[in-house]
Amino acid sequence: MNKFSPSTLARQDLKKLSPYEPVVQPGVIKMDANEFPFDFPQEVMDYIYSSTDPQSFNRYPDPMAGDLRTALAGYTGAPKEYILAGNGSDEIILNLALTFATGGDVLITPPTFSMYEVHSMVAGARPKFIPRNGDFSVNVEEVINQANNTDTRLIFICSPNNPTANETPQHEIKRILQNVSALVVLDEAYIEFGGTSCLSLVDEYPNLAVMRTFSKCFGLAGLRIGYLIASPGVINELRRVKQPFNLNSFSQRAALAVLDHLPLFEELIADIRDKRDLLWQQMQRIPGIEVLESKTNFITFKTTLPAAEIYQGLLNKGILIRNVSGPGLENYLRVSVGTGDENNTFLTALRDLMG
Ligand code: PMP
Repeated sequence: MNKFSPSTLARQDLKKLSPYEPVVQPGVIKMDANEFPFDFPQEVMDYIYSSTDPQSFNRYPDPMAGDLRTALAGYTGAPKEYILAGNGSDEIILNLALTFATGGDVLITPPTFSMYEVHSMVAGARPKFIPRNGDFSVNVEEVINQANNTDTRLIFICSPNNPTANETPQHEIKRILQNVSALVVLDEAYIEFGGTSCLSLVDEYPNLAVMRTFSKCFGLAGLRIGYLIASPGVINELRRVKQPFNLNSFSQRAALAVLDHLPLFEELIADIRDKRDLLWQQMQRIPGIEVLESKTNFITFKTTLPAAEIYQGLLNKGILIRNVSGPGLENYLRVSVGTGDENNTFLTALRDLMG
């Protein structure tokens, strides 16, 4: 047998990628991943179990997630044929890159969500970075310029943006849509927490795709449910690439159950927004902390002390947040809005560390 070397066999262009390593710290207060802070409502859990048919375990799932897409059409107002369900929006990002961008360029506006870059590379596309302006707004001129002077296939814009928590106004999105021939993917993962959705533009602009998730506002991060809304031309291309059974039956059922209990979730979302505003005001008063406005379920802030020191200090006190410090975000950290008690524990610890 010849010498087998997985490292030599593997794609050399992916060597710069590192495996995703979540920080696992059992027992800590988890304020690092912008998840839903409350336990998933028991009544909805019961409803999911009681409406789950045993056949949904031994049979393959509905490849088109038909019932879920019908319910999503009701929730979003978009026609069913404009909707594609995915195994989290992460899967949709990868499928977008595989369908449209392999061999071409993908425009990304950092600081932003890291998976646009990772999935572009995995798909064999070239991520190109157009840094945001000093106030974290998108450099629209440069996006248009680059899109028209490179082989740009996809443009990812996150609004409201993770981790800077600001939105890109609709008129700026429109300007991009009107001036490029690439597909513009607008990631609205946090839209239920604030900002104006651009969903209504999908009809007018066939080069717009709006992406959403059940992981943040609907408390289903563990079941991996995302969806994309775009013109059927875009959706049908993606259907060639997506795995037939990408979204399992149980997740489809759980997502349907959430949409069947929308008023309950709307109340919980309003509560998270109130808690965010309260946390924001209280953080604002801590000397040495500068807080970014937030239309999301997290707060990004700058400290006069090194970010690593605050991160570790909080971890020593049993609180896990995210150190997002890096180019354009020196000494910034991001905290996800927690329950009332969690937010208070975090505030006390942060005050203490800031002296
Ligand atoms: N987009 C953004 C902006 C996010 O912050 C996240 C989660 N951190 C995702 C997409 C991924 O969401 P999902 O759980 O649906 O894969």
